[in-house]
Amino acid sequence: MKSDKKYDILIIGAGVIGCSIARSLSYYDLRIGVIEKSSYVCSGQSKANGGIIHAGHNSKPGTLKARLNVMGNRMFPKFCSDMGVEFKKIGMMVVADKAEKVPALEALKAQGIINGVIGLRIIGKEELLRLEPNIAPSLSGALFIPSAGMVNVHRLVIASAEHAAVNGVDFIFNNRVRKLMVEDDKLKGAVTDKGKFYSKILINCAGTESGKIANSAGLKGYSIIPRKGEYYILDKKYRGLVRRPCFFTPNPEGKGVTVFPSSNGNVLFGGNSIKVEDSTDFSTTKKDFDQVYKKAQKLVPGIAGKEIIGAFAGIRSTSTSHDFIIEAPHKPSGFIILNGIDSPGLSSAPVISEHVTSLIKDGLMDLRKDPNKKHTYKIKPLFRELGPVEKELWIKKDKRFARIVCRCEEITEGDIVSAIHSPIPAETIDAVKFKTWAGAGRCQGGFDLERVLHILSRECCLPPENITKNGQGSNVVTGKTKVGL
Ligand SMILES: Cc1cc2nc3c(=O)[nH]c(=O)nc-3n(C[C@H](O)[C@H](O)[C@H](O)COP(=O)(O)OP(=O)(O)OC[C@H]3O[C@@H](n4cnc5c(N)ncnc54)[C@H](O)[C@@H]3O)c2cc1C
Repeated sequence: MKSDKKYDILIIGAGVIGCSIARSLSYYDLRIGVIEKSSYVCSGQSKANGGIIHAGHNSKPGTLKARLNVMGNRMFPKFCSDMGVEFKKIGMMVVADKAEKVPALEALKAQGIINGVIGLRIIGKEELLRLEPNIAPSLSGALFIPSAGMVNVHRLVIASAEHAAVNGVDFIFNNRVRKLMVEDDKLKGAVTDKGKFYSKILINCAGTESGKIANSAGLKGYSIIPRKGEYYILDKKYRGLVRRPCFFTPNPEGKGVTVFPSSNGNVLFGGNSIKVEDSTDFSTTKKDFDQVYKKAQKLVPGIAGKEIIGAFAGIRSTSTSHDFIIEAPHKPSGFIILNGIDSPGLSSAPVISEHVTSLIKDGLMDLRKDPNKKHTYKIKPLFRELGPVEKELWIKKDKRFARIVCRCEEITEGDIVSAIHSPIPAETIDAVKFKTWAGAGRCQGGFDLERVLHILSRECCLPPENITKNGQGSNVVTGKTKVGL
Protein backbone atom coordinates (compact mmCIF):
# COMPACT_ATOMS: atom_id res chain seq x y z
CA MET A 1 0.00 0.00 0.00
CA LYS A 2 1.27 3.46 -0.85
CA SER A 3 1.71 5.92 2.02
CA ASP A 4 3.24 9.32 2.79
CA LYS A 5 6.07 9.32 5.35
CA LYS A 6 7.80 12.20 7.09
CA TYR A 7 11.49 12.28 8.05
CA ASP A 8 14.06 14.81 9.21
CA ILE A 9 16.62 13.22 6.90
CA LEU A 10 16.05 10.97 3.94
CA ILE A 11 18.98 9.12 2.36
CA ILE A 12 18.68 7.66 -1.14
CA GLY A 13 20.83 4.54 -1.60
CA ALA A 14 22.01 1.87 0.84
CA GLY A 15 25.53 1.39 -0.47
CA VAL A 16 28.65 1.91 1.62
CA ILE A 17 28.20 5.69 1.47
CA GLY A 18 24.46 5.82 2.30
CA CYS A 19 24.85 3.31 5.14
CA SER A 20 27.94 5.02 6.64
CA ILE A 21 26.10 8.34 6.59
CA ALA A 22 22.98 6.75 8.13
CA ARG A 23 25.15 5.28 10.91
CA SER A 24 26.93 8.60 11.63
CA LEU A 25 23.64 10.53 11.75
CA SER A 26 21.90 7.85 13.83
CA TYR A 27 23.59 9.19 17.01
CA TYR A 28 21.49 12.36 16.75
CA ASP A 29 17.92 13.07 17.73
CA LEU A 30 16.58 12.68 14.19
CA ARG A 31 14.02 10.68 12.29
CA ILE A 32 15.98 9.10 9.42
CA GLY A 33 14.88 6.97 6.48
CA VAL A 34 17.01 5.20 3.86
CA ILE A 35 15.30 4.39 0.55
CA GLU A 36 16.86 1.62 -1.53
CA LYS A 37 15.58 0.26 -4.84
CA SER A 38 17.10 -3.20 -4.26
CA SER A 39 16.01 -5.78 -1.70
CA TYR A 40 19.05 -5.47 0.58
CA VAL A 41 21.98 -3.21 1.40
CA CYS A 42 25.24 -3.25 -0.61
CA SER A 43 23.60 -3.93 -3.96
CA GLY A 44 25.22 -1.30 -6.24
CA GLN A 45 28.92 -0.62 -6.88
CA SER A 46 29.57 -1.38 -3.21
CA LYS A 47 29.00 -5.09 -3.81
CA ALA A 48 31.13 -5.31 -6.93
CA ASN A 49 34.50 -3.89 -6.03
CA GLY A 50 37.85 -5.20 -4.94
CA GLY A 51 37.47 -4.33 -1.25
CA ILE A 52 40.88 -2.68 -1.43
CA ILE A 53 41.47 0.18 1.00
CA HIS A 54 43.71 2.42 -1.04
CA ALA A 55 46.34 4.58 0.60
CA GLY A 56 45.77 7.74 -1.47
CA HIS A 57 48.89 7.68 -3.68
CA ASN A 58 46.88 7.41 -6.88
CA SER A 59 44.73 10.57 -6.84
CA LYS A 60 45.77 13.91 -8.30
CA PRO A 61 47.06 16.21 -5.51
CA GLY A 62 44.58 18.88 -4.48
CA THR A 63 41.49 16.84 -5.41
CA LEU A 64 38.76 15.88 -2.98
CA LYS A 65 39.56 12.25 -3.83
CA ALA A 66 43.17 12.62 -2.69
CA ARG A 67 42.22 14.35 0.57
CA LEU A 68 39.35 12.04 1.53
CA ASN A 69 41.17 8.86 0.51
CA VAL A 70 44.19 9.61 2.71
CA MET A 71 41.98 10.56 5.67
CA GLY A 72 39.64 7.59 5.11
CA ASN A 73 42.56 5.18 4.97
CA ARG A 74 43.83 6.44 8.35
CA MET A 75 40.37 6.02 9.88
CA PHE A 76 39.76 2.54 8.47
CA PRO A 77 41.26 0.33 11.21
CA LYS A 78 39.09 1.94 13.95
CA PHE A 79 36.07 2.30 11.66
CA CYS A 80 36.13 -1.49 11.14
CA SER A 81 37.07 -2.61 14.64
CA ASP A 82 34.28 -0.47 16.13
CA MET A 83 31.81 -2.63 14.16
CA GLY A 84 33.57 -5.98 14.63
CA VAL A 85 34.64 -6.08 10.97
CA GLU A 86 38.11 -7.33 10.08
CA PHE A 87 40.51 -4.92 8.36
CA LYS A 88 43.74 -6.42 7.05
CA LYS A 89 46.50 -3.86 6.69
CA ILE A 90 48.53 -5.93 4.25
CA GLY A 91 49.90 -3.15 2.03
CA MET A 92 49.94 -3.01 -1.76
CA MET A 93 52.43 -3.23 -4.63
CA VAL A 94 52.50 -1.18 -7.81
CA VAL A 95 54.85 -3.08 -10.10
CA ALA A 96 56.93 -1.86 -13.05
CA ASP A 97 56.89 -4.39 -15.89
CA LYS A 98 60.12 -3.05 -17.38
CA ALA A 99 63.01 -0.80 -16.32
CA GLU A 100 61.59 2.16 -18.32
CA LYS A 101 58.54 2.16 -16.01
CA VAL A 102 60.59 2.71 -12.83
CA PRO A 103 60.43 6.54 -13.23
CA ALA A 104 56.60 6.17 -13.22
CA LEU A 105 56.92 4.51 -9.81
CA GLU A 106 59.05 7.45 -8.61
CA ALA A 107 56.36 9.87 -9.87
CA LEU A 108 53.65 7.88 -8.09
CA LYS A 109 55.67 7.90 -4.89
CA ALA A 110 56.19 11.69 -5.13
CA GLN A 111 52.43 12.16 -5.71
CA GLY A 112 51.65 9.98 -2.71
CA ILE A 113 53.99 11.99 -0.49
CA ILE A 114 52.31 15.25 -1.59
CA ASN A 115 48.92 13.69 -0.73
CA GLY A 116 50.17 12.74 2.75
CA VAL A 117 50.66 8.97 2.31
CA ILE A 118 53.35 7.65 4.61
CA GLY A 119 55.80 4.75 4.37
CA LEU A 120 56.04 4.65 0.54
CA ARG A 121 59.14 2.83 -0.63
CA ILE A 122 60.55 1.83 -4.02
CA ILE A 123 61.81 -1.73 -3.85
CA GLY A 124 64.03 -3.65 -6.27
CA LYS A 125 63.39 -6.98 -7.95
CA GLU A 126 65.01 -9.02 -5.14
CA GLU A 127 62.86 -7.57 -2.35
CA LEU A 128 59.75 -7.73 -4.56
CA LEU A 129 60.27 -11.46 -5.10
CA ARG A 130 60.92 -11.99 -1.39
CA LEU A 131 57.63 -10.23 -0.49
CA GLU A 132 55.67 -11.70 -3.43
CA PRO A 133 57.38 -14.97 -4.40
CA ASN A 134 54.85 -15.80 -7.15
CA ILE A 135 55.14 -12.56 -9.04
CA ALA A 136 56.71 -12.76 -12.53
CA PRO A 137 60.52 -12.87 -12.05
CA SER A 138 60.97 -10.68 -15.14
CA LEU A 139 59.39 -7.64 -13.41
CA SER A 140 61.69 -4.76 -12.55
CA GLY A 141 60.68 -3.47 -9.11
CA ALA A 142 57.73 -1.95 -7.31
CA LEU A 143 56.33 0.85 -5.19
CA PHE A 144 55.49 -0.70 -1.82
CA ILE A 145 52.55 1.02 -0.09
CA PRO A 146 52.31 -0.33 3.47
CA SER A 147 49.19 1.58 4.61
CA ALA A 148 46.83 -0.03 2.06
CA GLY A 149 44.58 -2.87 3.19
CA MET A 150 41.63 -5.16 2.54
CA VAL A 151 38.14 -5.28 3.97
CA ASN A 152 35.11 -7.52 3.54
CA VAL A 153 32.93 -4.82 2.01
CA HIS A 154 29.66 -6.73 2.50
CA ARG A 155 30.28 -7.21 6.23
CA LEU A 156 31.24 -3.53 6.52
CA VAL A 157 28.13 -2.18 4.79
CA ILE A 158 25.83 -4.61 6.63
CA ALA A 159 27.40 -3.71 9.99
CA SER A 160 26.97 0.04 9.31
CA ALA A 161 23.33 -0.48 8.29
CA GLU A 162 22.57 -2.73 11.26
CA HIS A 163 24.08 -0.15 13.65
CA ALA A 164 21.92 2.56 12.08
CA ALA A 165 18.82 0.31 12.28
CA VAL A 166 19.50 -0.47 15.95
CA ASN A 167 19.49 3.31 16.49
CA GLY A 168 16.07 3.61 14.87
CA VAL A 169 16.89 4.38 11.21
CA ASP A 170 14.17 3.03 8.87
CA PHE A 171 15.33 1.11 5.79
CA ILE A 172 12.76 0.98 3.00
CA PHE A 173 13.83 -1.64 0.44
CA ASN A 174 12.42 -2.48 -3.00
CA ASN A 175 11.56 1.18 -3.42
CA ARG A 176 12.91 3.28 -6.26
CA VAL A 177 13.05 7.08 -6.05
CA ARG A 178 11.46 8.36 -9.25
CA LYS A 179 11.91 12.10 -8.77
CA LEU A 180 12.43 14.79 -6.15
CA MET A 181 9.81 17.29 -5.02
CA VAL A 182 10.87 20.96 -4.92
CA GLU A 183 8.73 23.89 -3.77
CA ASP A 184 9.86 27.54 -3.57
CA ASP A 185 13.51 26.48 -4.13
CA LYS A 186 13.32 24.12 -1.16
CA LEU A 187 13.51 20.37 -1.41
CA LYS A 188 10.39 18.77 0.04
CA GLY A 189 11.01 15.05 -0.47
CA ALA A 190 10.90 12.26 -2.99
CA VAL A 191 8.28 10.54 -5.13
CA THR A 192 8.91 6.81 -4.90
CA ASP A 193 7.31 3.51 -5.95
CA LYS A 194 5.86 3.32 -2.43
CA GLY A 195 4.43 6.81 -2.32
CA LYS A 196 5.70 10.26 -1.36
CA PHE A 197 8.33 10.63 1.34
CA TYR A 198 8.72 14.09 2.91
CA SER A 199 11.95 15.21 4.50
CA LYS A 200 13.68 18.37 5.80
CA ILE A 201 16.98 17.24 4.26
CA LEU A 202 17.56 14.77 1.45
CA ILE A 203 20.95 13.13 0.87
CA ASN A 204 21.48 11.68 -2.59
CA CYS A 205 23.83 8.64 -2.38
CA ALA A 206 22.32 6.82 -5.36
CA GLY A 207 25.64 5.93 -7.03
CA THR A 208 25.13 5.53 -10.77
CA GLU A 209 21.68 7.18 -10.52
CA SER A 210 22.73 10.18 -8.43
CA GLY A 211 22.99 12.46 -11.48
CA LYS A 212 19.54 11.49 -12.76
CA ILE A 213 18.02 12.13 -9.33
CA ALA A 214 19.75 15.53 -9.05
CA ASN A 215 18.43 16.44 -12.52
CA SER A 216 14.87 15.75 -11.33
CA ALA A 217 15.35 18.59 -8.79
CA GLY A 218 16.32 20.93 -11.62
CA LEU A 219 20.09 20.64 -11.08
CA LYS A 220 22.36 20.31 -14.08
CA GLY A 221 25.94 19.10 -14.50
CA TYR A 222 25.86 15.96 -12.38
CA SER A 223 25.99 13.33 -15.08
CA ILE A 224 27.89 10.07 -14.68
CA ILE A 225 30.31 8.28 -17.00
CA PRO A 226 29.68 4.58 -16.28
CA ARG A 227 32.86 2.46 -16.37
CA LYS A 228 32.66 -1.30 -16.01
CA GLY A 229 35.18 -3.35 -14.06
CA GLU A 230 35.22 -7.17 -14.20
CA TYR A 231 36.62 -9.57 -11.61
CA TYR A 232 37.38 -13.30 -11.71
CA ILE A 233 37.53 -15.42 -8.55
CA LEU A 234 40.02 -18.28 -8.26
CA ASP A 235 39.44 -21.43 -6.25
CA LYS A 236 40.68 -21.28 -2.65
CA LYS A 237 43.53 -23.65 -3.44
CA TYR A 238 45.27 -20.57 -4.87
CA ARG A 239 45.24 -18.94 -1.42
CA GLY A 240 48.61 -17.28 -0.84
CA LEU A 241 49.38 -16.85 -4.55
CA VAL A 242 49.71 -13.16 -3.76
CA ARG A 243 49.93 -11.73 -0.25
CA ARG A 244 48.67 -8.26 -1.06
CA PRO A 245 47.04 -6.45 -4.01
CA CYS A 246 49.54 -6.21 -6.89
CA PHE A 247 48.94 -3.69 -9.67
CA PHE A 248 50.92 -2.61 -12.71
CA THR A 249 51.70 1.11 -13.00
CA PRO A 250 48.40 2.98 -13.66
CA ASN A 251 47.13 3.79 -17.17
CA PRO A 252 44.91 6.70 -18.33
CA GLU A 253 41.74 4.61 -17.69
CA GLY A 254 42.57 3.97 -14.04
CA LYS A 255 44.59 1.82 -11.72
CA GLY A 256 44.59 -1.11 -14.14
CA VAL A 257 44.32 -4.86 -13.67
CA THR A 258 45.16 -6.19 -10.24
CA VAL A 259 45.69 -9.59 -8.63
CA PHE A 260 44.73 -9.62 -4.97
CA PRO A 261 43.76 -11.80 -2.01
CA SER A 262 40.15 -11.25 -0.93
CA SER A 263 39.13 -11.02 2.71
CA ASN A 264 37.45 -14.43 2.28
CA GLY A 265 40.60 -16.28 1.29
CA ASN A 266 40.22 -16.40 -2.51
CA VAL A 267 42.60 -14.77 -4.96
CA LEU A 268 40.86 -12.52 -7.50
CA PHE A 269 42.06 -10.78 -10.62
CA GLY A 270 40.47 -8.04 -12.69
CA GLY A 271 39.48 -4.44 -12.22
CA ASN A 272 39.67 -3.33 -15.87
CA SER A 273 37.85 -0.12 -16.74
CA ILE A 274 35.64 -0.09 -19.83
CA LYS A 275 33.39 2.82 -20.75
CA VAL A 276 29.84 1.52 -21.20
CA GLU A 277 26.63 3.20 -22.35
CA ASP A 278 24.36 1.32 -19.98
CA SER A 279 24.97 1.58 -16.23
CA THR A 280 23.15 -1.74 -15.75
CA ASP A 281 25.49 -3.68 -18.03
CA PHE A 282 26.97 -6.19 -15.58
CA SER A 283 28.03 -8.65 -18.26
CA THR A 284 31.40 -10.38 -18.22
CA THR A 285 32.54 -11.16 -21.75
CA LYS A 286 35.03 -13.55 -23.33
CA LYS A 287 36.77 -10.66 -25.08
CA ASP A 288 37.31 -8.69 -21.85
CA PHE A 289 38.23 -11.83 -19.95
CA ASP A 290 40.97 -12.64 -22.48
CA GLN A 291 42.50 -9.17 -22.06
CA VAL A 292 42.27 -9.17 -18.25
CA TYR A 293 43.63 -12.73 -18.02
CA LYS A 294 46.61 -11.91 -20.23
CA LYS A 295 47.54 -8.92 -18.07
CA ALA A 296 47.00 -10.79 -14.81
CA GLN A 297 49.19 -13.68 -16.00
CA LYS A 298 51.92 -11.24 -16.97
CA LEU A 299 51.86 -10.10 -13.34
CA VAL A 300 51.41 -13.51 -11.67
CA PRO A 301 52.10 -16.37 -14.13
CA GLY A 302 50.66 -19.04 -11.77
CA ILE A 303 47.07 -17.88 -12.38
CA ALA A 304 45.10 -20.64 -14.10
CA GLY A 305 41.98 -19.68 -16.08
CA LYS A 306 40.44 -23.12 -15.62
CA GLU A 307 40.37 -22.65 -11.84
CA ILE A 308 37.94 -19.71 -11.92
CA ILE A 309 34.90 -20.38 -9.73
CA GLY A 310 32.98 -17.16 -10.38
CA ALA A 311 32.98 -13.80 -12.15
CA PHE A 312 31.23 -10.49 -11.58
CA ALA A 313 31.22 -6.92 -12.85
CA GLY A 314 30.55 -3.55 -11.24
CA ILE A 315 29.87 -0.14 -12.72
CA ARG A 316 31.95 2.78 -11.48
CA SER A 317 30.01 6.03 -11.28
CA THR A 318 32.69 8.41 -12.52
CA SER A 319 31.89 12.15 -12.59
CA THR A 320 32.78 14.29 -15.60
CA SER A 321 35.48 16.05 -13.52
CA HIS A 322 36.81 12.63 -12.40
CA ASP A 323 36.70 13.92 -8.81
CA PHE A 324 34.22 13.25 -6.00
CA ILE A 325 31.45 15.84 -5.80
CA ILE A 326 29.92 16.38 -2.34
CA GLU A 327 27.85 19.54 -2.25
CA ALA A 328 24.90 21.22 -0.57
CA PRO A 329 23.55 23.44 -3.40
CA HIS A 330 22.11 26.84 -2.54
CA LYS A 331 19.00 26.05 -4.63
CA PRO A 332 17.12 23.90 -3.93
CA SER A 333 18.05 24.10 -0.26
CA GLY A 334 17.87 21.08 2.02
CA PHE A 335 19.72 18.89 -0.48
CA ILE A 336 23.12 17.19 -0.33
CA ILE A 337 24.40 15.53 -3.46
CA LEU A 338 27.15 12.94 -3.64
CA ASN A 339 28.13 12.39 -7.24
CA GLY A 340 31.04 10.58 -8.88
CA ILE A 341 31.84 8.49 -5.83
CA ASP A 342 33.81 5.90 -7.77
CA SER A 343 37.12 4.43 -6.61
CA PRO A 344 38.45 5.13 -3.95
CA GLY A 345 34.93 5.73 -2.56
CA LEU A 346 35.00 2.67 -0.33
CA SER A 347 38.36 3.72 1.14
CA SER A 348 36.98 7.21 1.78
CA ALA A 349 33.64 6.12 3.33
CA PRO A 350 34.54 6.82 7.00
CA VAL A 351 35.48 10.43 6.30
CA ILE A 352 32.74 11.05 3.71
CA SER A 353 30.10 10.34 6.39
CA GLU A 354 31.79 12.84 8.75
CA HIS A 355 32.08 15.38 5.94
CA VAL A 356 28.33 15.11 5.21
CA THR A 357 27.50 15.48 8.93
CA SER A 358 29.58 18.70 8.97
CA LEU A 359 27.75 20.00 5.87
CA ILE A 360 24.44 19.52 7.71
CA LYS A 361 25.73 21.26 10.86
CA ASP A 362 27.16 24.14 8.78
CA GLY A 363 23.86 25.79 7.97
CA LEU A 364 21.29 23.10 7.11
CA MET A 365 20.13 21.92 10.53
CA ASP A 366 21.12 21.98 14.21
CA LEU A 367 22.05 18.50 15.32
CA ARG A 368 21.59 17.34 18.92
CA LYS A 369 23.13 14.07 20.14
CA ASP A 370 20.54 11.66 21.57
CA PRO A 371 21.85 10.05 24.80
CA ASN A 372 19.70 6.97 24.16
CA LYS A 373 21.45 6.09 20.91
CA LYS A 374 24.09 3.35 20.88
CA HIS A 375 27.58 4.54 19.90
CA THR A 376 28.92 1.01 19.62
CA TYR A 377 27.53 -1.94 17.72
CA LYS A 378 29.39 -5.02 16.62
CA ILE A 379 28.17 -7.33 13.87
CA LYS A 380 27.62 -10.90 15.10
CA PRO A 381 30.60 -13.06 14.08
CA LEU A 382 30.15 -16.11 11.89
CA PHE A 383 30.48 -19.48 13.64
CA ARG A 384 33.61 -20.32 11.60
CA GLU A 385 35.37 -17.25 13.02
CA LEU A 386 35.10 -18.44 16.64
CA GLY A 387 37.69 -20.26 18.75
CA PRO A 388 37.04 -23.87 19.89
CA VAL A 389 35.69 -22.93 23.35
CA GLU A 390 33.22 -20.38 21.99
CA LYS A 391 32.14 -22.83 19.28
CA GLU A 392 31.27 -25.40 21.92
CA LEU A 393 29.30 -22.80 23.93
CA TRP A 394 27.34 -21.63 20.89
CA ILE A 395 26.43 -25.22 19.97
CA LYS A 396 25.35 -25.92 23.54
CA LYS A 397 22.95 -22.97 23.33
CA ASP A 398 21.73 -23.65 19.79
CA LYS A 399 22.23 -26.96 17.99
CA ARG A 400 21.74 -25.26 14.63
CA PHE A 401 25.35 -24.02 14.85
CA ALA A 402 26.45 -27.67 14.63
CA ARG A 403 24.72 -28.14 11.26
CA ILE A 404 26.79 -27.11 8.23
CA VAL A 405 24.67 -25.82 5.34
CA CYS A 406 27.39 -24.41 3.05
CA ARG A 407 30.33 -26.83 2.98
CA CYS A 408 32.68 -24.71 0.87
CA GLU A 409 32.46 -21.71 3.19
CA GLU A 410 31.65 -23.63 6.42
CA ILE A 411 28.45 -21.72 7.10
CA THR A 412 26.04 -23.22 9.61
CA GLU A 413 22.26 -23.20 9.83
CA GLY A 414 22.70 -21.04 12.96
CA ASP A 415 24.57 -18.39 10.94
CA ILE A 416 21.79 -18.31 8.34
CA VAL A 417 18.99 -18.11 10.91
CA SER A 418 20.85 -15.25 12.71
CA ALA A 419 21.21 -13.39 9.40
CA ILE A 420 17.49 -13.74 8.66
CA HIS A 421 16.56 -12.35 12.11
CA SER A 422 19.22 -9.61 12.30
CA PRO A 423 18.46 -5.84 12.55
CA ILE A 424 18.45 -5.69 8.72
CA PRO A 425 16.75 -9.02 7.98
CA ALA A 426 18.46 -11.02 5.21
CA GLU A 427 15.32 -12.29 3.48
CA THR A 428 16.57 -13.24 0.01
CA ILE A 429 19.12 -15.79 -1.24
CA ASP A 430 21.56 -12.99 -2.13
CA ALA A 431 21.09 -11.22 1.21
CA VAL A 432 21.95 -14.47 3.04
CA LYS A 433 24.97 -14.87 0.75
CA PHE A 434 26.21 -11.30 1.36
CA LYS A 435 25.73 -11.59 5.12
CA THR A 436 27.14 -15.10 5.65
CA TRP A 437 29.00 -15.99 2.40
CA ALA A 438 26.83 -19.15 2.04
CA GLY A 439 26.83 -20.05 -1.67
CA ALA A 440 29.92 -17.99 -2.51
CA GLY A 441 32.38 -20.88 -2.45
CA ARG A 442 33.63 -23.36 -5.04
CA CYS A 443 30.23 -24.99 -5.69
CA GLN A 444 28.62 -21.52 -6.08
CA GLY A 445 25.48 -22.66 -4.28
CA GLY A 446 25.16 -26.01 -6.10
CA PHE A 447 25.08 -27.87 -2.79
CA ASP A 448 23.46 -25.37 -0.44
CA LEU A 449 21.00 -23.28 -2.47
CA GLU A 450 18.10 -25.63 -1.83
CA ARG A 451 18.88 -25.79 1.88
CA VAL A 452 19.15 -22.00 2.20
CA LEU A 453 15.83 -21.73 0.34
CA HIS A 454 14.12 -24.02 2.83
CA ILE A 455 15.55 -22.20 5.85
CA LEU A 456 14.38 -18.87 4.40
CA SER A 457 10.96 -20.33 3.71
CA ARG A 458 10.64 -21.69 7.24
CA GLU A 459 11.99 -18.59 9.04
CA CYS A 460 10.11 -16.02 6.91
CA CYS A 461 6.89 -18.11 6.99
CA LEU A 462 6.66 -18.01 3.20
CA PRO A 463 6.25 -20.84 0.69
CA PRO A 464 9.55 -21.63 -1.15
CA GLU A 465 7.98 -20.32 -4.39
CA ASN A 466 7.87 -16.86 -2.79
CA ILE A 467 11.57 -16.79 -1.85
CA THR A 468 13.58 -14.73 -4.34
CA LYS A 469 17.21 -14.39 -5.30
CA ASN A 470 17.16 -10.61 -4.93
CA GLY A 471 13.63 -9.24 -4.92
CA GLN A 472 10.55 -9.18 -7.10
CA GLY A 473 10.69 -11.30 -10.24
CA SER A 474 13.70 -13.37 -9.20
CA ASN A 475 11.85 -16.33 -7.66
CA VAL A 476 14.09 -19.37 -7.35
CA VAL A 477 11.56 -22.22 -7.66
CA THR A 478 8.09 -22.45 -9.12
CA GLY A 479 6.82 -25.42 -7.09
CA LYS A 480 7.57 -27.78 -4.21
CA THR A 481 10.96 -29.48 -3.87
CA LYS A 482 11.68 -32.75 -2.08
CA VAL A 483 14.77 -31.88 -0.02
CA GLY A 484 14.25 -30.53 3.48
CA LEU A 485 16.49 -30.17 6.51
C1 LIG B 1 34.70 -2.39 -10.43
C2 LIG B 1 34.87 -1.48 -9.24
C3 LIG B 1 36.00 -1.59 -8.43
C4 LIG B 1 36.17 -0.75 -7.34
N1 LIG B 1 37.24 -0.94 -6.50
C5 LIG B 1 37.36 -0.17 -5.39
C6 LIG B 1 38.38 -0.43 -4.44
O1 LIG B 1 39.10 -1.43 -4.53
N2 LIG B 1 38.52 0.43 -3.41
C7 LIG B 1 37.71 1.52 -3.25
O2 LIG B 1 37.92 2.28 -2.32
N3 LIG B 1 36.69 1.74 -4.10
C8 LIG B 1 36.50 0.92 -5.14
N4 LIG B 1 35.45 1.12 -6.00
C9 LIG B 1 34.55 2.24 -5.75
C10 LIG B 1 33.52 1.90 -4.68
O3 LIG B 1 32.93 0.64 -4.91
C11 LIG B 1 32.47 2.99 -4.66
O4 LIG B 1 33.12 4.23 -4.50
C12 LIG B 1 31.46 2.84 -3.56
O5 LIG B 1 30.94 1.54 -3.53
C13 LIG B 1 30.36 3.87 -3.74
O6 LIG B 1 29.35 3.59 -2.82
P1 LIG B 1 27.94 4.30 -2.96
O7 LIG B 1 27.20 3.96 -1.74
O8 LIG B 1 28.14 5.73 -3.31
O9 LIG B 1 27.29 3.68 -4.28
P2 LIG B 1 26.49 2.30 -4.49
O10 LIG B 1 27.12 1.19 -3.78
O11 LIG B 1 26.32 2.16 -5.96
O12 LIG B 1 25.11 2.58 -3.77
C14 LIG B 1 24.09 3.31 -4.38
C15 LIG B 1 22.78 2.66 -4.00
O13 LIG B 1 21.72 3.46 -4.44
C16 LIG B 1 20.70 2.62 -4.92
N5 LIG B 1 19.89 3.41 -5.86
C17 LIG B 1 20.28 3.87 -7.07
N6 LIG B 1 19.28 4.57 -7.62
C18 LIG B 1 18.23 4.55 -6.77
C19 LIG B 1 16.93 5.07 -6.79
N7 LIG B 1 16.48 5.77 -7.85
N8 LIG B 1 16.11 4.85 -5.74
C20 LIG B 1 16.54 4.12 -4.66
N9 LIG B 1 17.77 3.59 -4.60
C21 LIG B 1 18.62 3.81 -5.63
C22 LIG B 1 21.43 1.47 -5.58
O14 LIG B 1 20.63 0.30 -5.68
C23 LIG B 1 22.62 1.30 -4.64
O15 LIG B 1 22.37 0.32 -3.66
C24 LIG B 1 35.23 0.26 -7.08
C25 LIG B 1 34.07 0.35 -7.87
C26 LIG B 1 33.87 -0.54 -8.92
C27 LIG B 1 32.60 -0.48 -9.70
